[in-house]
Amino acid sequence: WAKAAGRGRWAVYDPERSARDIARSALVAGLPAALDRGEFVVHYQPIVALLEGTMLAVEALVRWEHPELGLIGPDRFIGLAEETGLIVSLGEWVLRQACHDAERWRREFPEAQLVVSVNLAARQADDPAIVSTVADALATSGLPAGLLQLELTESAVMGSAGEPLRSLHQLAALGVRLAVDDFGTGYSNLAYLRRLPIHCLKLAGPFVEGIRADGTDVAADHRDERIVDALVRLAHALELWVTAEAVETAVQAERLRALRCDTGQGRYFGAPAPADSITARLRAREVRR
Ligand code: C2E
Ligand code: MG
Ligand code: MG
Ligand code: MG
Repeated sequence: WAKAAGRGRWAVYDPERSARDIARSALVAGLPAALDRGEFVVHYQPIVALLEGTMLAVEALVRWEHPELGLIGPDRFIGLAEETGLIVSLGEWVLRQACHDAERWRREFPEAQLVVSVNLAARQADDPAIVSTVADALATSGLPAGLLQLELTESAVMGSAGEPLRSLHQLAALGVRLAVDDFGTGYSNLAYLRRLPIHCLKLAGPFVEGIRADGTDVAADHRDERIVDALVRLAHALELWVTAEAVETAVQAERLRALRCDTGQGRYFGAPAPADSITARLRAREVRR
C-alpha cells in the first residue's frame, strides 16, 4: 500500500506502473544531456510519386542512440520532450540537421529537387521565434526555402488559443511548404483549410491500413477506401498535394494510385534509414539514367 499524494487517500501499489514511471523519469532526466552529447540522429524515409515511382521528398524522423538502451524511436521520447519543453531545442536541432543534409543532396543531385519534410511539434509552432529559427536554418544551410516542408498535426495548426496560427502565414511567406500530418485523425473543423496556406495533406496511416493486402477492406464494405477517395478529392479541390502514410504493400500502393493519391510513404517504398541510404538511392537513380 502506498499513500497517494496529497489527499490522504490510499492507493494500491502497482509495481508495474512504478517501474514504468521510473523508466520514464530516467528517460526524461537523460534528454537534455543526450542532446548535448549528440546522441540523437535523424533518419529519413522516402516519399515517392505513386505514378512515376520517383522519390520526391524524404521525411526527417529523429531517433535516440541511447548508450545503454540502443536505438529508441520517437514515440518513446517526443511526448516527454513536449511535456518538458525540450522539444523546442531538440526540434531545432532536427530542423538544422535536416536542412544541412538536404542541401548536401541538392548540391550532389540538383536534378532530384529533393524536398525534406520536418515535423514541427505544437509547442514549436506556437513559439513566435519559429519564423526566425526556420529562416536562420535555411540561411545557414543554404537550402532554398522551396525544398523545405514543415509537417504539423491538425491540433498544432490550431495552436493553443484555438485559432489557426499566425506564424504559418509568415512561414509560408518564407517560401516553405506546409503539410498537415496525420490528416483525418484530429478533430479540428476544416475551416483552417480555407484560411491557411497549406500545401499538402498527409493521410493518416489507419485509413491506409484499412486497404488490406488482398485488396479488400477490413470492414468488407471498403469504408476506408471511400474515406481515402473523399479526402483525396477534397485535397485536389483545394489544389493540395496528398501523401498517404504507412503504405506497406504493393496492393495498397496500387489502390492509392487508382484513387489518384499523389505520393506515398511507408515500408513498401522504404523504411526510415540513415542519410547515407538516401544518398545511395539518389546515386543509383542517377546511374540508371
Ligand atoms: P509521423 O510524423 O506521422 O511519422 C510517420 C511514422 O510512421 C514514423 O514513425 C514512421 O517510422 C512510421 N512508418 C513508416 N513506415 C511505416 C509503415 O509502413 N507502416 C506504419 N504503420 N508506420 C510506418 P516514427 O519514426 O516512430 O515517428 C513517430 C512520430 O514521432 C512521427 O509520426 C512524428 O509525429 C514524431 N516525430 C518523429 N520525429 C520527430 C521530430 O523530429 N520532431 C517532432 N516534433 N516529432 C517527431
Ligand atoms: Mg516508431
Ligand atoms: Mg510526420
Ligand atoms: Mg504522420
